[in-house]
Amino acid sequence: MKIICIGRNYHAHIKELGNEIPAEPVFFIKPDTSLLLRNRPFFYPGFSSDIHYEAELVLKICKVGKNIQPRFAHTYYDKIGLGIDFTARDIQDRAKKAGLPWFTAKGFDQSAPVSQFIPKTGFPDLKNIQFSLNLNGKPVQQGNTSLMIYSFDEIIEYASRFVTLRTGDLIFTGTPSGVGSVRIGDLLEGFIEGKPILKCAIK
Ligand code: MG
Repeated sequence: MKIICIGRNYHAHIKELGNEIPAEPVFFIKPDTSLLLRNRPFFYPGFSSDIHYEAELVLKICKVGKNIQPRFAHTYYDKIGLGIDFTARDIQDRAKKAGLPWFTAKGFDQSAPVSQFIPKTGFPDLKNIQFSLNLNGKPVQQGNTSLMIYSFDEIIEYASRFVTLRTGDLIFTGTPSGVGSVRIGDLLEGFIEGKPILKCAIK
């Protein structure tokens, strides 16, 4: 399986990092070795001194698709969870300045903690899903799908022009503002619609 991530999908987050609003969606991939499941702890890697959390809603792909039409896009995912797109911001900033890819900043081991998944049918309105992240008990990120630049369906349509989506693939749908650094000893707690769904201790 693969993990497809969209960058720059919430205006307030684009602003906080001083980035441009993209004319087209910006995608990158995390390998399956980046997955961190069952609320396991994240071990701070030696190659970075500025690991950032980015809380994001995650879609689970439920059938194979390529060149998916917008009107059918909603049939290609059946579950929604919460993930953290851990980012080595120091490495990413260096890569951006040099015009180089983000792979090592985004694709390292354990860089994708993902919660259990909730069937999509459990949400009354997919365009109004609230999610949030606490750092050591304090709220740091608040998101709502109504604020996404590219909707779930648009992300699926666009990504599937380039890569075949397969059952079990995950799609990270972008982070709202409030990203920041973690330190050893921190605890991240993620919520969907106010309900706790993800925990990640930094060790
Ligand atoms: Mg992200």
